[in-house]
Formats: sequence, structure tokens, C-alpha cells
Amino acid sequence: MKAVVYDQPRSFTVTEVPDPHAGPGEVRLRVVLAGVCGTDAHLHDGQFDPVYPLTPGHEIVGEVDEVGDGVTGLRAGQRVVLDNMQSCGVCTSCRRARPAFCRVLVAQGVNAPGGFAEYIVAPAGKCHPADDLAPEAAVLTEPTACVMHGLDVLELPPGSDVVVFGAGPTGLLLAQLLRHAGANRVTVAAPTAAKLELAARHGADETVRVDRERPDASVARLRELAPEGFDAVVDATGAVGVLELCVPLARDGGTVFVYGMTDENDRLTVSPYEVFRRELVIKGSFSQAYSFDRALQAIRTGRVATDGIVTHTFALDDYADALAALRDRECVKAVVRPGGAAAT
Ligand SMILES: [Zn+2]
Ligand SMILES: [Zn+2]
Repeated sequence: MKAVVYDQPRSFTVTEVPDPHAGPGEVRLRVVLAGVCGTDAHLHDGQFDPVYPLTPGHEIVGEVDEVGDGVTGLRAGQRVVLDNMQSCGVCTSCRRARPAFCRVLVAQGVNAPGGFAEYIVAPAGKCHPADDLAPEAAVLTEPTACVMHGLDVLELPPGSDVVVFGAGPTGLLLAQLLRHAGANRVTVAAPTAAKLELAARHGADETVRVDRERPDASVARLRELAPEGFDAVVDATGAVGVLELCVPLARDGGTVFVYGMTDENDRLTVSPYEVFRRELVIKGSFSQAYSFDRALQAIRTGRVATDGIVTHTFALDDYADALAALRDRECVKAVVRPGGAAAT
């Protein structure tokens, strides 16, 4: 089969590798769509402890095409979304219901073969049937599961006033779920007008254009909206420059929520005095845990609207272009269609 294969950071080929086969308890999926996300850019640069040779791709919709011994409940031809995380269940993190910190975590597309390939083999129990959803909607299940986990971590009090920086896929998903989690008002702040329009269409109450050159103007507008600050200030950009804006925008007793992934070496300057005096809370959210089925259901019920989010589709051969699309401001979400597709 054909797959994207990295042999070291920043070095990959789209090449032929042996077809994988389903062992006992496993299924083989023909990959229908695989989402491209910021994690893939970090993996490209060698971050996240990749294991080489590596095939990335962790947001996967596939069609069951080979069923291993002992598998019940899945049949060939069925479309599923794959929960790419496999935790051991017995390490201290797993025993404390923190599977994402499992000491021997297998994350397909990060340290085990992922979905930027024609086929992927996975435990049957990690496949969630999704025949009823369009692949462009189903492919957002993994990022939605991460956002759902973020809400578990955030523990937002009902009636909160929230601002989300970033209107990429995660910002758009977060804004929607924060609304449903009881926020009184959700404001989305981002630089790209078209993405803010999409955020408004998906229910954001206020949108604020961020001028990358002059972020002060957007901060002034946000201060106008919330003179005493926001209950929760969410960063979904992973840009330290944006995180620097977040702390002063939190109200006394408010929460700064680090959702976006910065570079490992980035540093944020925070005044401990301010954290102390204003009882600020700084929280992070990593990956997903026990949230996959809820995410799938949120897409099913329409609580999370997915229309307009997947904007770019690439063939496997064009993986370099798919990665480049992450930096294209017109692109909300890029996906790879290993079955072949003209770039859109
Ligand atoms: Zn992702
Ligand atoms: Zn474990």
C-alpha cells in the first residue's frame, strides 16, 4: 500500500510499504479521510517523541475491509471513526483515569502507524460505527473528542462569559461546545474575517478581529466587551504572543485555558503576584480521554455543527501541500483522502 513515511524529522516520502493485516481482535480499515492538524506539523519537526519509521495521521475515518479473528460487532464495508489512543489500563496514570498520560501509551499516528496511508490496522474496540455521518463530518470526531475533554478539564461554571482566541477547527469546535456547556456569552477573536464569519454562523455571540500587527486594538475591543475581564480566556492558537494577552483579560478569579499547542521551547511570562492576588487559574488540556463517544454523539445531534470546517482535500501524494495548508489562512481544516482526490 501507499503511505506517508517519515524516517527522521522533516524527511518523509509517499512510498509503498507492505499491506498491514488484521490480527486477532483487530480490523483493517481502508482509510477514507484523515484530518491534518497542528500535531502533524509538530511531528514533522520531530516533536512529540515520534517513533521512526512513522506514518502520521490520527484523525481517521475508515471503512472496515478486513476483520480479524474474534471480532464481533463490526462487518466489512462499515464506516467507522477510529479512536487512535490505546492505554494500558494498569499504570498509575491509567489507574487514576488519566489514560492520555499512560506510561506506555500507543497513539496511532504519533508513535504507531497512522492514517496517512491507504490502510490502517486497529483494535476493533477502538472503532466507532459512523455509517450515518458524512466522512467530512465524521473526520472531526477526534478533534471534537479533544475539545470535549477540554470541557471536562475546564469545568466551566454555567453562566460564564468566555473568549476564545483562534477560529481554526479547534476554536470553532470549542466555541460551540462552550455555548452548550452553559456559557452566557462566547466571543471568538481571530485574524481571519472568513473564519470569524463561520464562528458567528456556528453560534459565537461576538467576534473580534485580531490584527496580528496591532493586537492592542483587539484587546481594547475585548476590554470594552468585558470591562472586568472574562470568566474564562481560552487560547486555541498555540501562539505565545496570544497567550500573553490572555492573562490580563481574565477577570479576578478567572481561568486562562491553554488549549492550543505551543512550541515545546516557548515560555510565557506570568506574574506570580497577579496569580496570587487575583486568584487566577491556569489550566491545560491535552488530547482526549473518555470523550470519543460523546464527541461522535455531539456531531450526530448537531450540537457541534461541522459544515464549512473541512475546506481542503488532498491526495496522499500531495501530503506536503496538505501540511502547508496548515499555514494557509484560507484553510480551516485540511484532510487527506488516500483513495485519491484532486486538491480542492
Ligand atoms: Zn489532531
Ligand atoms: Zn497506562
